[in-house]
Amino acid sequence: MKKISVVVPCYNEQEALPIFYVETTKELEKIPNVTWEFVLVDDGSKDNTLQVMQSLAQKDERVKYLSFSRNFGKESAMYAGLENACGDYIVLMDADLQDPPSLLGRMVKEIEENDYDCVGTRRVTRKGEPPIRSFFARMFYKLMAKISKTEIVDGARDFRMMRREMVDAVVKMCEYNRFSKGILSWVGFKTLWLEYENIERVAGTTKWNFWKLFVYSIDGIVAFSTAPLVISSLLGIGICFVAFCLMLFYAGKALIFGDPVSGFPTLISVILMLGGLQLLCLGIVGQYLSKTYLETKHRPIYITRKTNIEKK
Ligand code: UDP
Ligand code: MG
Repeated sequence: MKKISVVVPCYNEQEALPIFYVETTKELEKIPNVTWEFVLVDDGSKDNTLQVMQSLAQKDERVKYLSFSRNFGKESAMYAGLENACGDYIVLMDADLQDPPSLLGRMVKEIEENDYDCVGTRRVTRKGEPPIRSFFARMFYKLMAKISKTEIVDGARDFRMMRREMVDAVVKMCEYNRFSKGILSWVGFKTLWLEYENIERVAGTTKWNFWKLFVYSIDGIVAFSTAPLVISSLLGIGICFVAFCLMLFYAGKALIFGDPVSGFPTLISVILMLGGLQLLCLGIVGQYLSKTYLETKHRPIYITRKTNIEKK
């Protein structure tokens, strides 16, 4: 008998969680020869998510929960879930049923019969998402493909089932700035991608807005590429070259025609541009420095407030 651990990060999911539990259990029952457990992680919710978890745990002893002392973010919640899951196959799922539980049976089958270590999912459409968000998401994946050696698959969801070995490898990567899409690809292993259409969440609202996603994408870039650091040097060289050409041009013009150059507009634009570029490059360096700074503090990825999981 193999055991499946269903890891669910939850932030303000009191409406969605009970529906999720019922639907997922229904699908798990259909899979032959497996037992399962739920590892529900309450990411410092402000509503009654924890109470919902506790009542589920009372009814069903396969439900384990863990509640954070504050909101640490989905990345930390996923880490906590993976760390505390003890199944042979571990699956990451959102609480809003946007990750169809009907795929679970297929995932187990692929792992067992076709020797995959990991079965991931990717959305082929971004239906129901604001167009600007889709546009920037696409740009992000294109950019990442160019500047990072770690492959980040476009449209890949966090919804995936992994073997124990892979999860152990992921849990060993205890970096503080976590970008799972990168980490899960960095560890390697044989992965199969299943494709499905985007589904709207069943209840509650999305916890991501454009700004949060933008900051998250910067985290991703800084965590998995050092190309931006090279940009500042290249920009510097490029600008020196342009400045040198301009100098030659104006000197030549003054020598041949002898007319005075009107200085003010050129000067102001050059100063502004250089000032801007310097700030940009300084900012890039600052990004990396700040991440290094946080990393060296070795802060815990999450802090537990309440749980029914016994320490390993
Ligand atoms: N989530 C979390 N912590 C957060 C934000 C979100 O644990 O700070 C969880 C949330 O409860 C859900 C999953 O991450 O189970 C995905 O969030 P959401 O559905 O809001 O994202 P979307 O599907 O819109 O990208
Ligand atoms: Mg969702």
